[in-house]
Amino acid sequence: MACEASSITPKKIALIAHDNRKGDLLEWAKYNRNLLAQHDVYATGTTGNLLQRELAMEIIKLQSGPLGGDQQIGAKIAEGDIDFLIFFWDPLEPHPHDPDVKALLRLAVVWNIPIACNRASADFMFSSPLIFEEYHRQLPDYEEYRNRQIMGKQ
Ligand code: PGA
Repeated sequence: MACEASSITPKKIALIAHDNRKGDLLEWAKYNRNLLAQHDVYATGTTGNLLQRELAMEIIKLQSGPLGGDQQIGAKIAEGDIDFLIFFWDPLEPHPHDPDVKALLRLAVVWNIPIACNRASADFMFSSPLIFEEYHRQLPDYEEYRNRQIMGKQ
């Protein structure tokens, strides 16, 4: 069923690509430009600059990944400000900010955020009918964890 563009509930989408994957992400984003333009797009610094130039659309740009951008996106996820993450990370090269990458992917799982780490996953995600709808993500119940007993404390 085709959906009218106007029926879309805008989502907050974070886009990140490591240097060796930026070409791939750009190609994917160009192909999906019209759909992306109907959402709020966040990106790490360099990825964001490239996307803004190539897609001629507004991108909310954070710090470059190695300078804290991945952590900024992770913080937004924890605050409920990102609906899904497209992160083309490079599986063949080590990076100075590998711990930040791991932390970001971990937070996306903690908060049940959909993640696409390659084009095929991003294609499936973007062709889901849920992209057009309001989606109520189930949040894990972390109350038990928050209220856990710590030895020697109340
Ligand atoms: P960049 O950061 O978009 O600033 O290159 C991406 C990353 O390496 O996490």
